[in-house]
Amino acid sequence: KKYLYLICLMQMGAFNVYAQNRNIDLRVDSLIKLMTLKEKIGQLNQYSGRDATGPATDKKKFLLDDIKNGMVGSVLNIKGVKDTREIQALALQSRLKIPLLFSLDVIHGYKTVFPVPLAESASWDTLAIRQSAHVAATEAAASGIHWTFAPMVDIGRDPRWGRVMEGAGEDAYLGSVIARARVLGFQGEKLGGTDAVMACAKHFAAYGAAIAGRDYNSVDMSDQMLNEVYLPPFKAAADAGVATFMNSFNTLNGIPATGNSYLQQDILKRDWAYKGFVVSDWGSINEMVTWGFAKNQTEAAKKAILAGNDMDMESLAYKNNLEKLVNLGEVKVEAVDNAVRRILYKKFELGLFDDPYKFSVQAREDKVMHDKSFALIARSVAEKSIVLLKNDKQILPLNNAPAKIALIGPLVKAKQDLGSTWTVYSDTTTYTSVYEGIRDKYGNKSKLSYARGCDISDTSSAGFNEALAVAKEADVVIMVLGEAGYMSGEAKSRSDICLPGRQEELFNLVKATGKKVIVVLMAGRPMIFNSIADKADAIIYAFWLGSETGNSLANVISGSYNPSGRLPITFPRAMGQIPVFYSYANTGRPVTEHSGIKYKSAYLDLPNTPRYAFGYGLSYTKFGYSDIKLDKPVLLGKDDLNISFTLTNTGSFSGSDVVQLYIQDKIASVVRPVKELKNFAKVMLKPGESKLVTFKIKPNQLSFYKSGTGWVTEPGAFKVMVGSSSDDIRLQGDFMVQ
Ligand code: BGC
Repeated sequence: KKYLYLICLMQMGAFNVYAQNRNIDLRVDSLIKLMTLKEKIGQLNQYSGRDATGPATDKKKFLLDDIKNGMVGSVLNIKGVKDTREIQALALQSRLKIPLLFSLDVIHGYKTVFPVPLAESASWDTLAIRQSAHVAATEAAASGIHWTFAPMVDIGRDPRWGRVMEGAGEDAYLGSVIARARVLGFQGEKLGGTDAVMACAKHFAAYGAAIAGRDYNSVDMSDQMLNEVYLPPFKAAADAGVATFMNSFNTLNGIPATGNSYLQQDILKRDWAYKGFVVSDWGSINEMVTWGFAKNQTEAAKKAILAGNDMDMESLAYKNNLEKLVNLGEVKVEAVDNAVRRILYKKFELGLFDDPYKFSVQAREDKVMHDKSFALIARSVAEKSIVLLKNDKQILPLNNAPAKIALIGPLVKAKQDLGSTWTVYSDTTTYTSVYEGIRDKYGNKSKLSYARGCDISDTSSAGFNEALAVAKEADVVIMVLGEAGYMSGEAKSRSDICLPGRQEELFNLVKATGKKVIVVLMAGRPMIFNSIADKADAIIYAFWLGSETGNSLANVISGSYNPSGRLPITFPRAMGQIPVFYSYANTGRPVTEHSGIKYKSAYLDLPNTPRYAFGYGLSYTKFGYSDIKLDKPVLLGKDDLNISFTLTNTGSFSGSDVVQLYIQDKIASVVRPVKELKNFAKVMLKPGESKLVTFKIKPNQLSFYKSGTGWVTEPGAFKVMVGSSSDDIRLQGDFMVQ
């Protein structure tokens, strides 16, 4: 009773200052002592609130009653100050008045839509990425949201998988640095600010390695691959203080992630000493029954809680079964307490016990939703995300407005597609299309003509003639081609990642007019577009750039912004190469020849090299690399290795290069990749300017994971490589580890 009284006073705000300084652990413990088993289980339960604010239905009544009775810890998919206040008020009618957590998939912006995460990762600009997450958090938090289900930190090496667009690409190091930037962007340095939300590292783990790139499929993976490639971004998120983790829909070596205690208990909570909580993915506790891993929902609930899954999203498995399991002695109450403790801790950290309406303030929502500065930030992040793949004879930039520009293709005037998925909270009609961007850029200096040419996945050529007529009249043609926005994202795997429909055929016809053709490609994944790659005069890869698409592309095309993006994922030449990534290991077989047949690890019909390598991207200027120096030839004990070189802008535009540092462990007890990214820097230089760039390598960056042993750094010879892409190494050096 005494504690209850104290908590009530705190909720009324009377003890605010006092409460802030209280040790949260004590507050959590005292609250847990007051809770019945049912109330504890309630905190582990998360519902989708889509029906909670709609018309009266049985589902709505069920939801609202559960909230009033303290049977819900969190609700997803409710947003806006009005609705979150209304629903929070119901939770505060419950016996212990424990506030709800409002959660939502704020993936790449909320009202202002930023490039999709894969696109943004092409910026290799951690400050820009952090800022974008911060804007998204500011808008979402002003709309009553406490928690986003982002960032997705799954490594993606299979472009057939539709969710490569939600991650940072193929590389463990780049993925880790970006995971950290996103977590800090969403959460700020410390939870509790009303311009920040809790982040969620998902999907733990190896979700991106689904067999054949088919979403939700099983995953089979060596310990080495798991630890070296798929786990590091999660570790980086945990180290950055990410408040929550989400497990995943896949199995890992036969065990569903949701019921996987090796992942959640051993690695996350024991080895990494993680203190936040783990939420299941949508209904994934129930999916353990469909996998054939649990005989019914009761067994699934038991396996999930014992494996370290704290909160149940939309399975109702905990609500229906945990009390019974505890009473039967099959689940110890301590396991429930442990999960509740982790969740309540976050509610205290956010300050919700001190003011449950802290995030739901009308005046703030009104102000933040009208902040014009966010669009400018989105434009700048979009510019940085654009990758220039080809620029023959320096056709770009078009800094002198061409008299007649033809804009051709199904995405020229697109708006809704530009944000791809997870954009339901923004008004897509306000996005700038490429047409509008070019029109606003060149004003009446250029005459624009337009033809759609064909639809995205259409089989008709009815629009071809009009497109050709428009092309013939123009000085330069800009084609905007790609996927539809809905073709990537969750459950959007494709077996064929070529440009859909007849778009490449349309390109070939337009190019055959003899005009200069600049192609802008949009998609949520790497696509295959070989004739464009061979014949276009220039190619810009945009992925999906969000609400400022048109303005950012116009700035790049006109030269107001010099492109600086680099591919965060390898682009294959053909589907048969998949999976193709830069950090492969050499095979043991040299090229041998018997009876005229060459025996080597290769395809008869295709080179091994990809179309565009990881780290690749052009600039309007050129960069020279010189004078590499390693500060020591031999690395002893805990010494760092310092590698420096001079970077010079040898062209005539100001611009940024992304300088990349790779290493190779030449001889080891486990075969090592030919290259592993260990550091990078985005360096801005004026024409003629030089800078000394220095990278530090720490001995633990030279280690690898050995099954049965763990992380080891073995003595021996290493190679260091510096360049502007994984396939454009300009400088090399050697060193030894002793
Ligand atoms: C997705 C998650 C998402 C959740 C909630 C699931 O289907 O896999 O990434 O956060 O739904 O919307």
